[in-house]
Amino acid sequence: MKTLIHGGDLVAYDQGRFVGARYDGVLDARVDATGKLVIPGLVNIHCHPTTEAGGRLVADVGRRDFFQTGFLNYTATPKGVPSLDARADKTLGARFALTELLRFGCTTAVPIGPSADELLPIADALGLRMYVSPAFKSADYCVGDDGRLAYDWNEPAGLAGLERAKAFIAKYAGAQNGRVQGMLFPYQIDTCSPALLKATRKAADELRVGVEIHAGQNLLEFHEMLRRHGRTPVEHLADTGLLGPDLIIGHCLISTSHSLAAVPGGRDLALLANSGTSVAHCPLVFARRGNALESFQRYRERGINLGLGTDTYPRDLISEMRWASLVGKIVERDFLVATSADVFTAATLGGARALRRDDLGRLAPGAKADIVVVDLRKLRIGPYRDPIKALVQCATGDDVERVIVDGRTVVENGQVLGVDERQLLADAQREAERLWSTVPEWHWQKWTADELSPQSFSSLDRDLGRQSS
Ligand SMILES: [Zn+2]
Repeated sequence: MKTLIHGGDLVAYDQGRFVGARYDGVLDARVDATGKLVIPGLVNIHCHPTTEAGGRLVADVGRRDFFQTGFLNYTATPKGVPSLDARADKTLGARFALTELLRFGCTTAVPIGPSADELLPIADALGLRMYVSPAFKSADYCVGDDGRLAYDWNEPAGLAGLERAKAFIAKYAGAQNGRVQGMLFPYQIDTCSPALLKATRKAADELRVGVEIHAGQNLLEFHEMLRRHGRTPVEHLADTGLLGPDLIIGHCLISTSHSLAAVPGGRDLALLANSGTSVAHCPLVFARRGNALESFQRYRERGINLGLGTDTYPRDLISEMRWASLVGKIVERDFLVATSADVFTAATLGGARALRRDDLGRLAPGAKADIVVVDLRKLRIGPYRDPIKALVQCATGDDVERVIVDGRTVVENGQVLGVDERQLLADAQREAERLWSTVPEWHWQKWTADELSPQSFSSLDRDLGRQSS
């Protein structure tokens, strides 16, 4: 099927340059994009397919002794007590997440979590391209009776999880016209034993698939690795053989390049650059905790490939580009860095490179027909000279009008085809409220209470205030 999109600003790719393009052949359909921006489908290399009930709960609050970490607040539970995520409805989470990704212009995603089986039929129905398999780990985060963070180790469970992931990839890689591809996900560097990491490297080489792992995502984990092994998370990845052009590190925020790391003689960025490892940069989720990569420009100048991800919520890679640009400038105190073009490149070509795909993240002959049309004729966007600057500085995912994946239109007039958005939202709200109602009282009491205002808008916050007073 051949569709001509005409009349808009086209961001096409030719040997590293943005160019216009013409097509004079036979057509099946014609799309008028006058006043609109036509860009390659965005590549989200780090997200989690849930309704994010936990992440939404910890905005503005959390335990002080977890420093700037959000997720530990709802992930670490007493041994034997399932976490919020473990109690969540995986199918609904997958449906919610994939709908959101497509709606906001993402055509390729790396959804990380245990719900690979639930994702498959939904991705098939909605048309998203994804890299997937069930994530695995040798330990769960937990809190002891004294309330301190600890690790509940189960080495056989980690190795069995890897075997499950290998079997999943053997069965499903290449499915759905090649839109489903495999990748291995050892969950977090501090929850995976060295033996599991080495076995992951071996499996990745055998299966010829990439690996993504959370590492350098918070201060506790960074120093835990130093205490355990005398090595930074990046050095430990080098020791276990995982660094390489097929590895994506989720976040890699706390590295020896970060001012909080306080490690002399750091060489993390050199290790990343020399090994060709990619970093999944998710600025918003860290900005919410008051932290930032140091820095987008520094990693880029060292030659480290950066792709973008949304991690938790919202899964809006257009807004995420703006966060990457603004936070990147603030960290360096320099308006010349983390430009609109730089972050747009990260959200397209950077992600594609991390996935080792030269047919994604670009509009070019031979590339996949993953195309996004953004309506820039909006009051919030206003007049523009450079459509990429307009996109990054002013647009949001709501401005996405049409999304095509693999030649198939999956979003039209801002609606994900085949999804009743109101119903989905109602279902997600009900599910999140169910999960929030199950969080035990002791959990709230660990969270800082003094930031909670009695005038808080939500009844949940009032409830928090009551329980901690
Ligand atoms: Zn993550």
